[in-house]
Amino acid sequence: MEELYDMLVVGGGPAGYTAALYGARAGLTVLVLEKLSPGGQMATTDVIDNYPGFPEGVNGFDLAMKMKEGASRFGAQTVSAQAAKLELSGPVKRVHTAKGVYEGKTVVLATGARPRQLGLPNERALRGKGVSYCATCDGMFYRGKTVAVVGGGNTAVADGLYLSRLCQRVVMIHRRDQLRAPMLWKDRLETAGKTEFWMNCQVQELLTHPESGRLRGLIVRENTSGRCRELDCEGVFLAVGQTPETELLKGILPLDKGGYVTAGEDTCTALPGVFAAGDLRAKPLRQIVTAVADGATAAAKAEEYLSQ
Ligand code: NAP
Repeated sequence: MEELYDMLVVGGGPAGYTAALYGARAGLTVLVLEKLSPGGQMATTDVIDNYPGFPEGVNGFDLAMKMKEGASRFGAQTVSAQAAKLELSGPVKRVHTAKGVYEGKTVVLATGARPRQLGLPNERALRGKGVSYCATCDGMFYRGKTVAVVGGGNTAVADGLYLSRLCQRVVMIHRRDQLRAPMLWKDRLETAGKTEFWMNCQVQELLTHPESGRLRGLIVRENTSGRCRELDCEGVFLAVGQTPETELLKGILPLDKGGYVTAGEDTCTALPGVFAAGDLRAKPLRQIVTAVADGATAAAKAEEYLSQ
């Protein structure tokens, strides 16, 4: 018979591995289901400099591996498998994957979020051919070249800074005249040279090179004047926010209009024994510190549920 775990954790990012650490350390049997490698979005961040305890900053992948190791040390197991279907309403919860069905008395949902698309017609076709959603993954392909970064949040400025170390020219394109990220980043990026800001601008079109089929530039529209201008660039990094990974939860749990799970700070969802931790939960601040806080809370709540 398949093992019935005390806790199944769906998603191996900071929230998932913190829940696993706390759960396993409290003596629960824990299985983490992770679709790729540990860390989720965190693992694609070059330098994280706002996670306490790392005054020099820390590489996202390294931090992810350490979080996994920390949970494994107390006995949490990991299986590389993607959840395809969830049965969460009964006392035994089931997570269906291509590798089999896993059963748990509790489930911590920690599937996080993925980069949002801009929604331009040829965006999908140009992915990997000039369109990227991850500067630290793909930046090196654009060494010495001209690239654009779209967005004005923390991801966009972190991408801009990273790319300014590799590329010849980095054009930051943002739809408003104020960044969403702290404005000090604008000065910092401008001071680094190579970077320029096209504020109040939106990408209208992705231009494809007729022979290579790769991106060759952008048509960018100035919001105030309506004027369009062309930017020759080999890469564009889209950093326009996140979409929660909650498609499997539609019809199972209440989601807000953005698709985030409506669970409170206690991470308890509408279903007993099911907890939502990290970026997939409706919350005011999505950071690694808030994700790990959710993970710890979810594990404590799971323990409480199991003891009842
Ligand atoms: P975000 O904060 O939601 O910012 C998305 C940016 O994209 C905004 O500037 C937004 O413009 C713009 N945008 C959205 N849709 C757009 C569209 N259709 N066309 C053009 N621009 C569009 O997303 P994020 O930067 O990915 O950050 C997500 C969360 O992770 C945040 O809580 C952030 O603080 C956190 N984060 C933290 C770190 C870190 O701590 N080191 C690093 C990265 C991310 P408007 O400003 O006009 O809405």
